[in-house]
Amino acid sequence: MITEVLTANQLKKEAPVFGQLSFDNHEQVVFCHDKDTGLKAIIGVHNTILGPALGGTRMYDYKTEWDALNDVLRLSRGMTYKAAITGLNLGGGKAVIIGDPKKIKTPELMRRFGKFVHTLGGKYYTAEDVGMETSDMDTVREVTPYVTGISESKGGAGNPSPVTAYGVYMGMKAATKFAYGNDKLEGKRILVQGIGHVGEELVRLTSEEGANVIISDINEERLTEVSTKYGVDIYRGNDLYSETADIYAPCALGATINNETIDKLKVKVVAGAANNQLANESIHGPLLQQKEIVYAPDFLINAGGIINVYAEIEGYGREQIMSKTENIYNTTLDILNRAKATNTTTNAAAIGIAEDRIAARKNKQ
Ligand code: NAD
Repeated sequence: MITEVLTANQLKKEAPVFGQLSFDNHEQVVFCHDKDTGLKAIIGVHNTILGPALGGTRMYDYKTEWDALNDVLRLSRGMTYKAAITGLNLGGGKAVIIGDPKKIKTPELMRRFGKFVHTLGGKYYTAEDVGMETSDMDTVREVTPYVTGISESKGGAGNPSPVTAYGVYMGMKAATKFAYGNDKLEGKRILVQGIGHVGEELVRLTSEEGANVIISDINEERLTEVSTKYGVDIYRGNDLYSETADIYAPCALGATINNETIDKLKVKVVAGAANNQLANESIHGPLLQQKEIVYAPDFLINAGGIINVYAEIEGYGREQIMSKTENIYNTTLDILNRAKATNTTTNAAAIGIAEDRIAARKNKQ
């Protein structure tokens, strides 16, 4: 179990890699470097009991390489639970590429990265994540078949983000039903933090249902664009977490529920797309529970994207993808009820179910 998220300063270089707190029985971690293209990447394969590890590649300008390692370890573990709880025959993996995509991303670098993915022989399948586009996956596809999320014109299932947003919307509705007794978002004040690929679609779905949506982003251009397009308000304060609202939807980066923010939250529901929303699941999960804030576990409700890319491997059609994603509503309600009945956190209840499924498969092998 991960017990703590370390900042770069806290990570001690002299500590063994296997002793890093984010290391949680990962099967394999691969460091990839290419001098010519400037590629520095880390592939984390957490668990392959249910199937090949699948998870996107994140390209981000990490402050330190230790931050990148920490991120890939946490993200790949989350993918294991996401696949398991969604009922997919996939393991958990993830990759990070260190650097600002606007500055260093080139087709050569992506191809070189793809060749590293290929060396794993199908143990890890990549896809897009923050800092990646469908076109980047098309480039990776030139050198390896172990990639999903490629363009529809090239036989892929296309951009997974709208499907992810639909799953988050379903999870949000389920959590709203649990908290308020019905799942109507009409009139609910929803704070959407991060209006990128997923956030924008979530804004569309919720505002079309009549929710009072407030958007926040660090990108001013996006704020104006999305606000105009859907007629939603822009948050102009300097402390989003203290804002009075019904629902907080983190759709930017992770760890926004942390020691600084948790006491400020006035919402009744947290349901968003970002991975690893709880900075420390064993501290912030119970604190949310104490505050009676209904937390829809991130890895459960943002599984639409992985369902979409899994479809590429399994050959599912659109209808199957959408009905599996819609089912996130039922799974979320089930987990929220179980957590209440067993007086545990929603996150722990979801992880418990995922771990049981993995253990059952392991016993059969
Ligand atoms: P994206 O890069 O398209 O969008 C992220 C948005 O967040 C950008 O508009 C960015 O400007 C904004 N942002 C960054 N830092 C911010 C901050 N401090 N405050 C407010 N806004 C900030 O990414 P995405 O594909 O929309 O994914 C969003 C989140 O959902 C990520 O955490 C990602 O890992 C997760 N997720 C995405 C998918 C998918 O299918 N795309 C699937 C599962 C999980």
